[in-house]
Amino acid sequence: MVVSYTHEPFTNFSDRSNKEDIENALNYVKSELGKEYPLIIGGERVTTEDKITSINPANKSEIVGTISKANQVLAEQAMEKAQEAFQEWGNWDPEARANVLFRAAAIARRRKHEFSAWMVYEIGKTWKEADADSAEAIDFLEYYARQMVSLKDGEPVNSRWFEHNQYTYQPLGVGLTVSPWNLPFAIMTGTTVGPMVAGNTILLKPASLTPVITYKFMEVLEEAGMPDGVVNYIPGSGREIGDYLVEHPETRFVNFTGSKEVGIGIYEKAAKVQPGQKFLKKTAIEMGGKDTIIVDNEADLDLAAESIVQSAYGFSGQKCSACSRAVIHEDVYDEVLDKVTRLTEELTVGNPENRDTYMGPVCEEAAYQKILDYIEIGKNEARLVTGGTGDDQTGYFIQPTIFAEADPDARIMQEEIFGPVVAFTKAKDIQEMIDIANNTDYGLTGSIISNNRAHLEKARREFHVGNLYFNRGCTAAIVGYQPFGGFKLSGTDSKAGGPGYLLHFMDPKTVCDQF
Ligand code: GLU
Repeated sequence: MVVSYTHEPFTNFSDRSNKEDIENALNYVKSELGKEYPLIIGGERVTTEDKITSINPANKSEIVGTISKANQVLAEQAMEKAQEAFQEWGNWDPEARANVLFRAAAIARRRKHEFSAWMVYEIGKTWKEADADSAEAIDFLEYYARQMVSLKDGEPVNSRWFEHNQYTYQPLGVGLTVSPWNLPFAIMTGTTVGPMVAGNTILLKPASLTPVITYKFMEVLEEAGMPDGVVNYIPGSGREIGDYLVEHPETRFVNFTGSKEVGIGIYEKAAKVQPGQKFLKKTAIEMGGKDTIIVDNEADLDLAAESIVQSAYGFSGQKCSACSRAVIHEDVYDEVLDKVTRLTEELTVGNPENRDTYMGPVCEEAAYQKILDYIEIGKNEARLVTGGTGDDQTGYFIQPTIFAEADPDARIMQEEIFGPVVAFTKAKDIQEMIDIANNTDYGLTGSIISNNRAHLEKARREFHVGNLYFNRGCTAAIVGYQPFGGFKLSGTDSKAGGPGYLLHFMDPKTVCDQF
């Protein structure tokens, strides 16, 4: 028996000793910047000529690390090593597999501030956002380990007097995890260790923007006792090795988090049965969002403003859960817009190394350009209230931006921008607010700020999103508390951090023993 799960607490950085701890971690990581990292295939370090360079987006001249880059030959080798490792790992006692995760959680907890510091440098997270990311990674380890323990004997089924029926779960084989850069520790960890603790072996292709933090996590898994080949670290290009492995006839499943375009492409490719393939591939696909906060006329308007600001600008809006649409009842529209604008104009944008920075940079140059292009589109579609500018002299900084009076069908109300941009629109009643909220291709998160219980209940039934929040912001789901995943073109709604997650990576088996 293990004690029941509770989530890893967030760090209070106004406490002096916590502040010193993270400052020490930042100094340590700074002294480690610029090193080289190999691939890890079947436990072996493999160095290639071709490299990925990881750069600090707050300071373009700073190299975080240089990482070997896998090609198809190495991807194939990793597949072979993972198949070999599966023969043993798949037969390990599920509790023994869980023990590797428990130990990894303890190691990650001990090194938590160091991991947060890597995220400050590698992807521009503020202290608070990086700390939440580290906490969530630990949560995934603790939560999925327990989930495996609870599933180890399967589920009860009925038997008649002359038989004994059993329903148990077995792992699938080798799977591919393609993880995103925006929660580079948390989602990378969750999408790797979930299928791993279920008994599968993993080909881990991390986002090219965040390979160093992933390498650091590989060290944790190794120290925790993971056998060689159970997780293979193979950063590389989507086109070269991603597609190759998605289409590989031995890949049993693909676990992907990222953009809608890439996710749909993976779903289509994985659906095609390749020559020699003897099963249908499973996919768990989490894509984007175009998430709405609704503010009713009977509502705490300060709470509404704080919720919009936090959800729109946390990690520069680079979350698929971020609020990019605010749909406000006409009676309170001006007041809410005013409050949000005031709070937004107080936000500090800068280098996230500094404790007081609220918003760091966006992740890379292409994202910086794309967000500025959307801001230009927005200027033709709506009224720019604040922000709208960028500065890329040292890093990729964009001011938090508000557009008002946007048409619900405007591009800035429909397309995922993945940056610090929120558009406001006005509506006359609860029905119209919910209709506007539902009017997108996505269905990931949403919030309603209201003191009217009937309106909250109506939203419960009709606001069509996988994660719906009442009287709070629409980001920051906690593992095991708010299982996370979306409807419609937000993905397969695989609910990361939820009770059914591991079942995506196992096959249930029925055995009937007749007497
Ligand atoms: N789970 C995160 C949240 O609730 C967002 C995940 C993502 O952006 O991919 O905010």
